[in-house]
Parts: sequence; structure tokens; C-alpha cells
Amino acid sequence: MEQLPLFFQLKGKTVAVAGGGAPAARRAELALRAGARVSAFAPQLGDDFRALVDDPHFVHETRAPSAADMAGLALAFAATGDRATDEAMAALAREARVPINVADTPELCDFIMPAIVDRDPLVIAISTGGASPIFARMIRARLESTIPAAYGRLVALVGSYRERLGQRLSDLSQRRRFWERALEGRVADRFLAGREDEARVELERALDAADDTELAQGEVYLVGAGPGDPDLLTFRALRLMQRADVVLYDRLLPPGILNLVRREAEHIYVGKEPDRHAVPQEEISAKLVRLAKEGKRVLRLKGGDPFMFGRGGEEIEALAAAGIPVQVVPGVTSAAGCSAYAGIPLTHRDHAQACVFVTGHARSGGGLSLGWEALVQPHQTVVIFMGLGQLESLMHQFVAHGGDPALPAAIVENGTRPNQRVVTGTVETIAGAAASEGIVGPALVILGTVVTLRERLVPHGGPVSDEPGIFSNTHIPATMTPV
Ligand code: SAH
Repeated sequence: MEQLPLFFQLKGKTVAVAGGGAPAARRAELALRAGARVSAFAPQLGDDFRALVDDPHFVHETRAPSAADMAGLALAFAATGDRATDEAMAALAREARVPINVADTPELCDFIMPAIVDRDPLVIAISTGGASPIFARMIRARLESTIPAAYGRLVALVGSYRERLGQRLSDLSQRRRFWERALEGRVADRFLAGREDEARVELERALDAADDTELAQGEVYLVGAGPGDPDLLTFRALRLMQRADVVLYDRLLPPGILNLVRREAEHIYVGKEPDRHAVPQEEISAKLVRLAKEGKRVLRLKGGDPFMFGRGGEEIEALAAAGIPVQVVPGVTSAAGCSAYAGIPLTHRDHAQACVFVTGHARSGGGLSLGWEALVQPHQTVVIFMGLGQLESLMHQFVAHGGDPALPAAIVENGTRPNQRVVTGTVETIAGAAASEGIVGPALVILGTVVTLRERLVPHGGPVSDEPGIFSNTHIPATMTPV
């Protein structure tokens, strides 16, 4: 973060603005709107000041500002358009330790002016750290168009009920849940439809019915977070991630996804490294039950899809046995993500009429018992999850059971992430290739002639771009681009 975003209290305080043009007027107007007294220093004021000059809190000074003018200022703005005059103002402010903003001159600024979406009392400030004010304005335009103007009034309504709800529900997380329910349900629906009176009635009703025991009921969200690219999250996943009181996550989750979880949520790492069982599954299930019983909204984030080799079923069983409500949100499995981002379709009319998903990881204590006869069949694709650790032995067995050693094979490591790598070869060569390329996972192994399609779909071998978020699929013809 280049700067710390803050909201500055200006009520009753004085702000100085140097300049008589549009940028100065914009700053003066914002300061007045925030309740400040404004002194504008300029030989004359342009048309943009016309709406401000009659404001009782506005004073026009035709002279240049002096050191004495800086005394007691909350903030100072220089926006004269003349570098030397702006610098003089900045020097005066700095001498008096008054935070200064100089228009279009980030190196002279103590603070920068964000792009603002004003739905008073709801205010959104956007900054690009000075990198691109135009980008900030673009984002603002998007937000302006998606946040209804009525949101400001809705926030004010919530504010007016704050005290009463505080008396009714003592617990902070219960209050939060009450509002989420109200604001995602009928109260907001009516309000935003312009039926504000009905919304108030609805809110009163909800307030009367606000019941500690019902709101104290915890629940668990078992959410598939996809293979890594945050763009592959579902809307529902994101919504629940923003609502959780506590999140349990494991090793496969990249930080880009975790950053989208509600910031105040407690983060609990329950990662399981193969052969280093950090937290046994039973313990995770027990923890989910315990947290939900405390009334928390527990987010269990899983890489890919929760029911695809994710042991989601086992967790649900434990929760169901304890009578805890669960929502399961499907995710893009790494099989689908790797397939799309590596340019290897899992089925294809000319290559594979079936696709088999298998795990290459044995249950602890037991050996791996795969139905090899089914796996070595022609005209199908085999996707192996967790197969890296025993790849050589798996490939030997594949051939020993009648599989073709020359069958094309691929490994997709860190699929859909900025550091995605794809290594191709055959059943015979792939384990050696993985070792010599230093593949450490997470990685999927794909066996089948569909692997050869990659050469056509990703003609340059799909080198991973240096730019985060841009994957080798930049080489896939536009009609196939998965984003
Ligand atoms: N539920 C997950 C799979 C969990 S098993 C899903 O639907 O994808 C963990 C295995 O998934 C890893 O060992 C690896 O084989 C695979 N995997 C998960 N994320 C991956 C990624 N980004 N790239 C390649 N393989 C991945």
C-alpha cells in the first residue's frame, strides 16, 4: 500500500486553498461539504467558484498566503497551476506542519485526493497510489453505476437504528448478522425499490423478532475456492467469504484468495502436507463443529471443488451428525482450471470420449488400489490428483497393466496461477521430466492423446507471462480464452 487511507474529520476546522481555477474550486467544495471553513487564496476566482462564494464558511483572500495564515490549519491545498506558487504554498504548510496536497504533483503531497463516490453517509474513496488517477476515475465510474444512489439513504436508516439494536442485541456478531439479514433481504429490497415506508415497517418487525437464540446459531460454509486464480471464484463463494467470522484454510490456497476473506475474520491454518499430517481430518471436523456451536459463521475454504478429492463429504457428515447447518458451494476443480489454462481439453471428439479422475495418493496405512484395467483403456483421458509424489511408480504400473508407454502425458503445476508451468512428455518420460524440471506441485498429471492438442491450441508452448494474472492462455485463440 503506497498510502494509508483515512477519513479526515474537518467539521469546524479551517482549510486553506491556493488557486482560483477548477482544481482549486473542486478541493474547496469538497472541504466545505465535509464541514470545513475554507480560505481561498487567489488574485481572482474563476467561474467554478461561483457556487461557493456565498457559503458563510467560505472566505476569499486576494493576497498571497503567508506563514501567519498557516496557524491552526487542518489541511492545505495548492492548486494554482503554477509550479513556483504551489511550491511556495507547500513550503509554508510544511514549515507549519500542516498536511499539504499539491494538485498533480505527488512528490510534494503529504496526502493525495482520492476519486470519491459520495452516497452520503456512505463514502467510497479510491486511490491508485498516484500511479493512475485515470484508472481511479474509471473504477469510480463503475462503482457509481453499480451502487444505487439510494444506498446512501439506506446507510442513514441503518445508522438511525444503531442505538436501539445495540440495546436489543448485546453481542456484536449477532448485531452484524441482524443487519446482514436485513440488508440482504426484504428491508433492502423494499427500500431500494423506493418503498421506504414499507422498509421501515419491515425493519421494525425484524427488530421486534430479533431473537438472541436464533441469531446465536452458527453455520458452516464449505466453499470451493477454485485452483488459484481469484477470478475463478463464484459470486456465492465471494459473498460467503465476506461474511465469515472465522476461516479454516489449507496449503493449496494462494494468498490472493485469502485476501478476499473478510479482514476481521479469524484465520486458522489447517494445512495438510502429504506425509506431514499437520492437522488430522477428524480434528478439523471437530474444530468446525466446535466453532459453529459457539455461534460462529465458519468458512471452510477448499482448493478447487470441495467434493473433488477434498474430503468435503467427511466434514459434512460430522457437521450433520452434530445438527449444524452447512452450505456447500462448488468450485472450479483444478482439473477444469488446468485443462483450460494449459490448453488441454479433457474430452475431444477425436481423442477421448471419457475422462477419469483418480487420486495418486494412498490412504495413510493402505496401499494404492486403483482399477488399473479401467485406467489403461484407449480413447479416454486420465487425470491424476496428488500423483506427483509417486509418479514414477504410478507410470510403471500403468505400463505393467497394459498401458501404452508412448501415450502423451502432461503435468500442470500451479495451474491457473501466475507461476503455472506445463511439462509434456509420454507415460514413459513424464516422471523423469517432472524431476528434471523441478516440479514440486501442486500439480495435476494428465494422460491421453488430448495432450497433443496443446501444440495446436497453445502454439508457442504457452510460456507463462511475467505479468501476474496473465497466463499462458494468452496464446490460445480468442474464441478459447477462458477468461
Ligand atoms: N479439491 C481439489 C483437489 C484437492 S486434492 C480440486 O478440486 O482441485 C489436491 C490436489 O489437487 C493436488 O495434489 C494437485 O494434484 C491438485 N491441484 C490443486 N490445485 C492445483 C493447481 N492449482 N494446479 C495443479 N494441481 C492442483
